[in-house]
Amino acid sequence: MERLSDIGEIKRILGSHGFTFSKAMGQNFLVNPSVCPKMAQLCGADKDKGVIEIGPGIGVLTNELCKVAKKVVAIELDSRLLPVLDETLAEHDNVKVINADVMKVDLQKLIEEEFSGMEVVVCANLPYYITSPIIMKLLEDKLPIKALTVMVQKEAADRLCAVVGSRESGAVTVAVNYYSSAQKLFGVSRGSFMPAPNVDSAVIRLDISEKPRIDVSDEKLFFKMVKSAFAQRRKTISNSITSGLSISKDDFKIACENAGVSPQARAEALTLEELGKLSNAIHDLK
Ligand code: SAM
Repeated sequence: MERLSDIGEIKRILGSHGFTFSKAMGQNFLVNPSVCPKMAQLCGADKDKGVIEIGPGIGVLTNELCKVAKKVVAIELDSRLLPVLDETLAEHDNVKVINADVMKVDLQKLIEEEFSGMEVVVCANLPYYITSPIIMKLLEDKLPIKALTVMVQKEAADRLCAVVGSRESGAVTVAVNYYSSAQKLFGVSRGSFMPAPNVDSAVIRLDISEKPRIDVSDEKLFFKMVKSAFAQRRKTISNSITSGLSISKDDFKIACENAGVSPQARAEALTLEELGKLSNAIHDLK
């Protein structure tokens, strides 16, 4: 549908279906016509690739993705949007809408069944109440996905794209950097949405690395250590990690010596490589 990003047209469609926005489902729909074509262009989709979209809403971004990709599978939780999407996506024959909660979908199976022989990217304006869980699911499931291009709140974008070892970094920054390289593509003002949220947004792109960017002996231990370190980020790593992992301060000191990091450092001062070395040294204590 060509005029779908026109605010008058969006109001007409929503009105004709008697649709009311659900805050609980993070429904802030894009009404700025320049954003979706830009996201579709920058997400890495082309006529040989498949795209997974999460939360198509009324299909503004979906329409643009259908124009550039071979196939689009859009996962939408709100069943009230299905008849709307039937109408707005009617002209495309390369799209499938699945009515489901993305957190409960077996994406590995979906990719095998829907995108056989295609490279796959993800492109979405994410529901903000579950931004991090969705991104973590997409990364941790080690799916055969090339890149994630997602719209998130500006603050989340800053944290996700921060450099590990900087003040802005957090456990999610470490996870993102472990699996991918992140970049901020462009900012989007709050006025670009209906209803307008209280914060601005940004589109980021995570290019998934073929293998994790550092070698760790025990991934579970690495992420448990990182979560403990950032959960009490004002404390020294000696305090936060020893209590999080239940190890003695003496053992932790030995691990720090072997990893070449100071036990008095704070989590946000350590680079990805240093965090990796530290978790390997803790692993070797056992
Ligand atoms: N893509 C549309 C746009 O840009 O205008 C809508 C984006 S809106 C921020 C988020 C969308 O995600 C809504 O359509 C909402 O119903 C849907 N959604 C919320 N939680 C979801 C979930 N767990 N799984 C799939 N879709 C979800």
